[in-house]
Amino acid sequence: MSREWSNGWTHRRRRFPVVKLILVVLICVLILGVSLLLIYYLIDSKNSKAQGAFASGTSVAENNSEQPDGSEQFTDSEKPSEAAPIVIELPKEHKVDFYVPEHEGIPLILIDPGHGGYDVGANAGSCLEKDINLAIALKTRDQLNRMGYVCVVTREDDSHLYLSDRTNIANDIKADVCVSIHQNFFDQTDITGTETWYGSEDSRDLATFIHKKVVEHAQSKSRSVQEGDYHMVRETMMPSCLIEVGFLSNPEERNNLLSSEYQEKIATGIAEGIDEYLKQSQSNKNS
Ligand SMILES: [Zn+2]
Repeated sequence: MSREWSNGWTHRRRRFPVVKLILVVLICVLILGVSLLLIYYLIDSKNSKAQGAFASGTSVAENNSEQPDGSEQFTDSEKPSEAAPIVIELPKEHKVDFYVPEHEGIPLILIDPGHGGYDVGANAGSCLEKDINLAIALKTRDQLNRMGYVCVVTREDDSHLYLSDRTNIANDIKADVCVSIHQNFFDQTDITGTETWYGSEDSRDLATFIHKKVVEHAQSKSRSVQEGDYHMVRETMMPSCLIEVGFLSNPEERNNLLSSEYQEKIATGIAEGIDEYLKQSQSNKNS
């Protein structure tokens, strides 16, 4: 009896861990399955949000270094932060006819008003970056032409140009200097000031002269002159810089930027900065 009982018990004890093991495996599989479903759901919901943003003409850039290179566009409800700017992805190639006047022996300057057409740039209500960029660019061109340089702009009206069009123009016409004009925008409305970006050491002096003169004439806050990996300064083969004149997100600076008088001061700063740079390069060549 006691042996039979003992055998029966031993038999049950041997079977129990197998059942327990199967149960544990089943529970693990269940937990894994639920976790995978949850992860899939999370990734899927993120993707559909990103696709929604792209469908409305915007997508998140790789990093904030792409923000000022002439391609951000956003509505009031989608204001970008410095960490995650929003840019439009543009096709690489686009043919543009471009006319340059005779300029034998005279430095050729290209001014590029950022954005244009459907790409409005930064905006605060009806105030669009593309319009301010154009107004300042045309004033800068006129001042430089009056100073005796030959200056042309990448666009004279509200037409749209791809970033590659702009740098192709600069390289094709063999401009001696290229300056791209932009306005800044930030979530915090108290941020103001001027930022100037260059792509390599060859362009540092140009950026520094322009920045100094713009800050001096506009009495704006000097934020920084920095090297940055932006299309307009990276893909141009001559000394070039990109100036973010001021912040449209700050009401006072925005009002200044909308006034013709203030735009003229900025233009004077850019023109004098270019003039100073070209005179320095000339005297360096002569010495
Ligand atoms: Zn811009």
